[in-house]
Amino acid sequence: MFCEVKPKERAGVINPIFTCQPCGAQYASIGIKDCIGIVHGGQGCVMFVRLLFSQHFKESFEIASSSLHEDGAVFGATHRVEEAVDVLLMRYPHVKVIPIISTCATEVIGDDIDGVVLKLNNGLLKEKYAGREVHLISLHTPSFKGSMVSGYDVAVKDFVSHFAKKDKPNGKLNLITGWVNPGDVTELKHLLAAMQVEATVLFEIENFDSPLMPDGNHVSHGDTTIADLTGTADALGTIALNRYEGGQAATYLEREFDIPTIIGPTPIGIRNTDTFLQNVKKLTGKPIPESLVWERGLALDALTDLAHMFFADKKVAIYGNADLVIGLAEFCIDLEMKPVLLLLGDDNTSYPNDPRIKALQENVDFNMEIIMNADLWELENRIKNEGLELDLILGHSKGRFVAIDNNIPMVRVGFPTYDRAGLYRHPVVGYAGATWLAEQMANTLFTDMEYKKNKEWVLNVW
Ligand code: SF4
Repeated sequence: MFCEVKPKERAGVINPIFTCQPCGAQYASIGIKDCIGIVHGGQGCVMFVRLLFSQHFKESFEIASSSLHEDGAVFGATHRVEEAVDVLLMRYPHVKVIPIISTCATEVIGDDIDGVVLKLNNGLLKEKYAGREVHLISLHTPSFKGSMVSGYDVAVKDFVSHFAKKDKPNGKLNLITGWVNPGDVTELKHLLAAMQVEATVLFEIENFDSPLMPDGNHVSHGDTTIADLTGTADALGTIALNRYEGGQAATYLEREFDIPTIIGPTPIGIRNTDTFLQNVKKLTGKPIPESLVWERGLALDALTDLAHMFFADKKVAIYGNADLVIGLAEFCIDLEMKPVLLLLGDDNTSYPNDPRIKALQENVDFNMEIIMNADLWELENRIKNEGLELDLILGHSKGRFVAIDNNIPMVRVGFPTYDRAGLYRHPVVGYAGATWLAEQMANTLFTDMEYKKNKEWVLNVW
């Protein structure tokens, strides 16, 4: 039995798992209040990304584009950034933060967005917008390397390093959630409130689940303020839940401001949630209350009803953001399942050094493959041509056709999930997330048993 970690052996990508770096920078940007990003590139670099956000959350988001055309792609288009900043500031009097997000085209032609920021700071902002608080931040996210995951990581780090400023201790915990859903944020806030911990939740996207109000529709935005970002340097500690989505920012705060920092684990499942709470306790000194022990007990009870009877030895393939995939794999193992195939969709070469992956390699007692720089063809090909038998697929909606075409039950998890209702509202982290995920997996397997007439009678006597 062995667990192999290797890059896909084929050149090219067929049905990618991820989109590009600017997408991640845009996701981090919409988590900040009074912020509208300008993506310096073709309009499609915003249009398709906004569509993904809107499909996933069923909400509207505001992101701008410098709208690069042929002449700009040849001769340079920094003047379009200058115009875009001016138009944005005129059109939106509340906007205070404008990240300038580069793309593949503008990085290749070498447009100097740092130079534009300097020019605008010394020119337009002083002359036309004197007295108005405006922060222009250049985010370099060329899409010919990395993925939306690394783009998010770069943006979070650059936002934090732009604003963080030492003043006096604020007694708060920095919580960098990574790429999560509103339901996850609600659950994380609940856990922290139960421990009476005051936290700055960074790139806070709980309000991406927005109401329809009597005065009209609501444009969704994040709730992390400039003051929140500035205060990160005065925190009593930082927890970044995800190594690859916020880890760089946490390391920066530790290095620059001596903020005690813990990176990971992604609190998916019982043991990772236990570790998260222990880490909160370690950094804040606050005890874990009896109420959370009770919640843990409820979750354990729910999982015990399912694990051995229904999940044992079920073979699972998981794809998506690396932290999510690893957390889900650990959870599946705890539920006696066999995550036989993990697909990590970008070219990050540090995955083999991830301690969680090393632990999987040392401990799994079944054959497991972890494919880096993977695409969805890696999954499809194994099923169609190499005899891979699966009981369940876990991943986002872009892989739905692999599941549908091959009659394999699938639980949608990750980003984007647009073909099932309301998934963004449910957590996958914390004890509530563990219960919800396990019950989703169980109910999906039950439905499959019924449709395929595969021991469906068991459900009569359970
Ligand atoms: S790959 Fe390049 S052109 Fe396509 S969306 Fe990403 S940044 Fe824009």
